[in-house]
Amino acid sequence: MSGRNKKRPVIGILTGSFNSDYPRTLITELYKELKDEDFDIRLYTGIEATLFFGNYASFDVGFDRHWLSVFEYSNFEDIDLLVVAYGNIMASHPHIDEGIFLPKLPQVPTIMIGNSTVKPDAYYIMIDNYLGMKSNVDHLIEEHNYKDIAFISGPKGSPSADLRMEAYLDSLEEHGMPVRDELIVYGNYSNNVDSIVETLFERNSRIDAIVSSNDEMCNAVYRVAAKRGRKIGVDLAVVGFDDEEYSAEMEPPLTTVKQDYTLVAKSLAGMFRDFCSGKELSSLRIPASCVRRSSCGCSYETVSMRVPGKININPMRYMTHDEQHKTFQRNIISALVLRNLLTESISEAAFFLKLAQEMRDVGSKSSYILMLDEPVRLREGEELVLPQSARMCMRQNGELCEGFDRKEAPVVSRKNVSEHVLETDKARNTTTFLLFYGEYQYGVLSVEIEPQDVLYFYSMSLQVGSGLRYLELALRQKEVNELLEHQNELLDYTASHDKMTGLYNRMGFMEQYTRFMQQYDSEKRFILMIADVDHLKQINDTFGHSAGDEAICKAADILKKSLPKESLVGRIGGDEYMILIAADTKTDCSKVSSDISKCCESFNLDSGLPYYLGISSGSISFRYVNEIEFTAISRKADERLYDAKRHRRDSVIR
Ligand code: GH3
Ligand code: MG
Repeated sequence: MSGRNKKRPVIGILTGSFNSDYPRTLITELYKELKDEDFDIRLYTGIEATLFFGNYASFDVGFDRHWLSVFEYSNFEDIDLLVVAYGNIMASHPHIDEGIFLPKLPQVPTIMIGNSTVKPDAYYIMIDNYLGMKSNVDHLIEEHNYKDIAFISGPKGSPSADLRMEAYLDSLEEHGMPVRDELIVYGNYSNNVDSIVETLFERNSRIDAIVSSNDEMCNAVYRVAAKRGRKIGVDLAVVGFDDEEYSAEMEPPLTTVKQDYTLVAKSLAGMFRDFCSGKELSSLRIPASCVRRSSCGCSYETVSMRVPGKININPMRYMTHDEQHKTFQRNIISALVLRNLLTESISEAAFFLKLAQEMRDVGSKSSYILMLDEPVRLREGEELVLPQSARMCMRQNGELCEGFDRKEAPVVSRKNVSEHVLETDKARNTTTFLLFYGEYQYGVLSVEIEPQDVLYFYSMSLQVGSGLRYLELALRQKEVNELLEHQNELLDYTASHDKMTGLYNRMGFMEQYTRFMQQYDSEKRFILMIADVDHLKQINDTFGHSAGDEAICKAADILKKSLPKESLVGRIGGDEYMILIAADTKTDCSKVSSDISKCCESFNLDSGLPYYLGISSGSISFRYVNEIEFTAISRKADERLYDAKRHRRDSVIR
C-alpha cells in the first residue's frame, strides 16, 4: 500500500515566509520552470511573526521560538540536493547562529542563495545587493543634488542589509560627503517601523532624501511623511529596494531596485538539471537593476494601475471581486476545518482521519503529518532537539485518507518519509508547515499543493496546531474523567459494603432493599430475617478477636450458601445480619431458618474449629411494604430473633 521505489531526485528548498514577495515569486517561477520535469520538491517555509502580523505582532504567538525548527524536519525526507534561501531567512532572523543552524540541516550538496560565505562547501547564487543600491544613492546625489540623505537599514547582521548599507556608505564617500550617524537608523525590514522613521525626523532638522533597505519599510516612510506634511517626490525623496508587487502603485510610485527572481528561478532549475546529469555546478551572480519612478524626484509617467473594483490589501496586492469572494470563502472554510476537528471525536485516530479528509476537501493532492512522540515544550531561548524518529499519524493521497493513534502510527525515521507515504508514481511537490501552539511543538504537516496555495495552507496549519493542543487537552481530560469515574465507583462500593465479609453494610442494605422489592410485582411475598452469631463474645474472649472475625466471615458464608438465590444480605452490625428474601411458594420462615441451622451443623462437623458456629435468626413474611412499614417489620423480626436466642447452645466451646 505504501512505499515506492526510489528514485527521482528530491530537492529540498528552505525559504522565509511566503508573506513576502521574494520566496513567493521565486518558488512560483521555479515550479513553472520545472512543471514538466521529473523532480520531487520539498519546500519548507519559515514563519515570522513581525512580517506576518505587522502591527499585531505584539501579542505573543510563540512563532519566533519555533521559527527555525521547521527546517530541521527536512531530515526525515531523503533529500539529494538542498537549496537554502539563506539571505531571505536571515532577513528576519539576523541572529541565527549558523554554526548551530547549518549542521542541523541534511548534509547533502547545498546551494545557498544570498551573499554569504558561511558554508564553504556550498554552491552560491548571489543576488546583487550592492550595485543596485549604490547606483540609486549615486543617482540621488548626482542627478538630484540631495545633501542630507538618511538611511534606514535592515536588521544589523543580515548579510543583505549589511551590503545595502555598504553601498550607501561607499556612495557618500565617493562623493566626498560625510557620514552622519544621526542620519542612519535600523529597522527590521517590516512595514511596521513608523516609530523608527519618526526618530529620524526628530533627530534631523533637515532631510532631503531617505534611502530604505527595502520597499516594505517605505510604507512607514510614506505614512510618517504624510503626517508631517512632507510631499514625497517633491520635498522628500524616497528610494527602496526589492520592487515589491505594489511598489509601482504606491503614491507616488516608488523608486527602487529590482532583483530578478525569475532569473534566480531559471538559474536554480538549470543547476538542478546539471546536478541530476552529474555535471559540476558552479556558483552564479544575478544582477539587479534600478527602477526609477517618481518618489526620488524624477518625473515618471504615473499611469494609475488601479482598476475600479479592486481593493488594496495589506497593501501586498490587489484582488478582483472573484478573488475576494474565493478568499472569503476559503477563510470561512479554514475556520470550519478547525471546528470540524474539534467536534470530531476524542481519539487521535479519528482526529487525524478527519484531518486527512479535510486536507483532501480543501484541495491538497496528497498530505501527511509527522508527529513527535511527545509534544516538545520550547521555552523562550530553548532549542529544539529533533528526535531520530516521528510518527506518521495522518496520510492522504487523493481520495485515500488514513488516520492513526500515535502509538499505532507508522514510525518514520530520518530520510525515510517516502517509505510511508501513500504510494504515488508521480513527482510530488510538497510544502511543509510546522505544527505548534504557543510553547508546544507537535510536528509538521506536509501537503502537495501549488505555490499560490501556500499561504492558505499556512493559515490552516496554524489552526491544526491549535487543534492538536485541543486534542491533547481533551485526551488528558478524558483520562482524568475515567480515573475519577473509577475512583467514584470504588468509593461507592466502599461506602455501601462491609470490607470483612463483602456483604452490604447497613447503609448499603438500606439503600438496596426498596430497589430489591421493586423488581417484583406488588403481590410478591418477601421474608425479612435478622440473624446473629451465637456467643461471639465467648469466642472472642476464649480464642481472641481474630477468631471472632473469622466466625463473622464463616457465618456470612453460611448465610450466602443456605439462603435462596433471590436474597439480599447485609451485615448491619457487629455479628448481626439482615436478609431480605423474595420468597417462592415453597419458601417460608421456618424453612429458611432450618436451612441455615442445617448448614451450620454440617459446617461444624468438619470445620476443625475449637468452637461451634451457631446462627440464630428471627424472620417475618410480608408483601410489598413502604419504608415505615419496613421498620416496623424489622422490629418484629428482631423480637423473633430474641426468642430464638433462647434455643441456642449454652456454650459454643467444644
Ligand atoms: P448472643 O449469642 O446473645 O448473640 O451473644 P454474643 O456474645 O454474640 O453477643 P452479642 O451478639 O450481643 O454481641 C456481639 C459481640 O460481638 C459484641 C462484640 O464484642 C463482638 N463484636 C462485634 N463486632 C465484632 C467484630 O467485628 N469482630 C469481633 N471479633 N467481634 C465483634
Ligand atoms: Mg451474637
